[in-house]
Amino acid sequence: MDKGQAPVSKLNLSYLYRLLLCITGVSLFAVYNQGVFVAYSFPAWIWALALSGAAVSLIVFTFQLPPQGNGLSLDSSVYLACLFVFGASFSLTVLLISAIAIFFIDRGLAWWRHVNNFAVYSIMITSAAYIYRALGGEQGPLLEGHLPAYAAAMAMYFALNTLLIAFYYYLTFNENLYDTLKGMLKDTVLAYLCTLVLALVLTILLYHNQLFGLGLFLCISIMMSYSFKRMFAMYRDIEERANRDPRTGLFNHSYFELALEEEIRKACNSGASLSLAMIDIDDFKKYNDHFGHLKGDGLIVFLADLLTRECGGEDMLVSRYGGEEFTLLMPGLDTAEAYSFLERLRRTLNNSPFEGAEIFPQGCLSFSAGIAGFRLDIHDKSQLVEEADQALYYAKKQGKNMVHIYGRQSTLEREIDFSQDVRDIEQQLRLFMYKDLETFKHSKRVFRYAMDMSELLELDNSTKRQFTLGALIHDIGKLEIPWGILNKKEKLSAEEWEMVKWHVTWGKEMASTNVKYKELAPYIELHHERYDGKGYPHGFKGEQIPRLCRMLTVIDSFDAMTTERPYQPTKSVEEAIVELRACAGTQFDPELTELFIRYIESRQLRLAEAAI
Ligand code: GH3
Ligand code: MG
Ligand code: MG
Repeated sequence: MDKGQAPVSKLNLSYLYRLLLCITGVSLFAVYNQGVFVAYSFPAWIWALALSGAAVSLIVFTFQLPPQGNGLSLDSSVYLACLFVFGASFSLTVLLISAIAIFFIDRGLAWWRHVNNFAVYSIMITSAAYIYRALGGEQGPLLEGHLPAYAAAMAMYFALNTLLIAFYYYLTFNENLYDTLKGMLKDTVLAYLCTLVLALVLTILLYHNQLFGLGLFLCISIMMSYSFKRMFAMYRDIEERANRDPRTGLFNHSYFELALEEEIRKACNSGASLSLAMIDIDDFKKYNDHFGHLKGDGLIVFLADLLTRECGGEDMLVSRYGGEEFTLLMPGLDTAEAYSFLERLRRTLNNSPFEGAEIFPQGCLSFSAGIAGFRLDIHDKSQLVEEADQALYYAKKQGKNMVHIYGRQSTLEREIDFSQDVRDIEQQLRLFMYKDLETFKHSKRVFRYAMDMSELLELDNSTKRQFTLGALIHDIGKLEIPWGILNKKEKLSAEEWEMVKWHVTWGKEMASTNVKYKELAPYIELHHERYDGKGYPHGFKGEQIPRLCRMLTVIDSFDAMTTERPYQPTKSVEEAIVELRACAGTQFDPELTELFIRYIESRQLRLAEAAI
């Protein structure tokens, strides 16, 4: 089927379904009610009108329930009580009068929706009446012996209600039937039980106290509806306060974190773009020092208002991250789009007059911003925040009043630090000289392979720096493994092997404590993940593992195969190549494995030629 045709045919089905509901509902009404109301006596009309008035009041005075504030109307308890005391025909008359009244009260609703609602209720009441009768239920007072019949009538009433509505959503909005049903049941089971209890209470009141009983029931219901509304308003107010920063009215840090997690989940499922910007006012301390904190607060509020105004029309979430820092979460925008938006925002701020702005080095208000874009290999919200933060740090270093996208830094600066970084990491690795010389030597070999592969992969300088430093430091977590296990000649026991596996997590934690090595953490943490998802510590699969971490896995494994280790016999280069190929597609990324094998083969060739 053509993709474009699906919604049309679904829509037609939805119309058809509603038409079918109307015909069924009205027919059932005709069969069960038979228009007997035309021959009602005066007292019967009083009853019918009073009960309809009660049903309408309960539709108007709903019970608002947290968290979404869905309105729960208890009119069903009136129809059910009518059914139990006076029978199906009378209950349907009450339904008809209420439906006509609601038609005039709620003029915003299309006429066919009114008819639809009437039909659905009619189906529910008649089906409940049928099962009630079938289980021996009779018209009249509440009898304990009829309890199964009351419960079955109620179950039928609400089962039909849920099914008919869920099916409508399925046909109209293409929603998953099972999920819709599950969601509806979860939200309403308690409400259904309340309705049953209220219907039974009303049955007693109607039978024994007639209109006075009905009046009492209504008073209690309306008072409860009022209390629920007040309680819900309080709930909303508290929720609002918990999520907002009181000074600026923007969302606060905690709410931002929840929203970020949710947006990452959505982007992960849908593959849509998602960008995050960290914004920091430039030289804010100077303004504070010059004019005092109160004026400084005014500047924070001024920027918050500007952000709210400028981002208001868009599907963006502005939060106060802390102090004079703000975050902008931009679902649907890639980093280039986010960049143009923030550049526009930056220029708007530069051109906004503000008291005392002349004291800033730029002569105007300004901010610096860092942008990070969501990628499939980002699994944790803090990773995206960290990247946006690094980009912001870079923008500040470049002279402020600028927007920078993570990963686009000029490499010159990073190059200068590179050799120093290698020396620093080697210094740390020297601890292995005493603990496990093999790991020390292995790390240095893996580093050299990574240097060569960086050339082959044509990595830019900044990525090369990250990759090679990551390769050098990847086993740092082994420093935590006891000497005896690291150097054990015999096969490791299951517990010992579990401990060895922890080195990736310990290593990541060690690197994360140092700002300089934070960005190397994925190489340490993920170099034992497998392409088929059977690796550790997370079991990430395919492209969930960053590409260069997959490369490191190949290099690391090749070096492990070809050098002597206490728990594994050495393989020749040729044997290792066979092994790499055998595991390509399961343990290793097949494309990167081939690339590495080609590199090893050409290196072998060069070595052989040099030896001649
Ligand atoms: P940079 O351009 O590098 O961002 O410099 P800066 O001066 O803006 O940044 P720095 O982090 O050195 O100083 C931020 C200052 O913001 C320090 C703190 O006193 C002030 N600050 C944080 N929160 C508030 C606040 O709510 N109100 C006021 N008035 N000042 C705040
Ligand atoms: Mg700051
Ligand atoms: Mg600042």
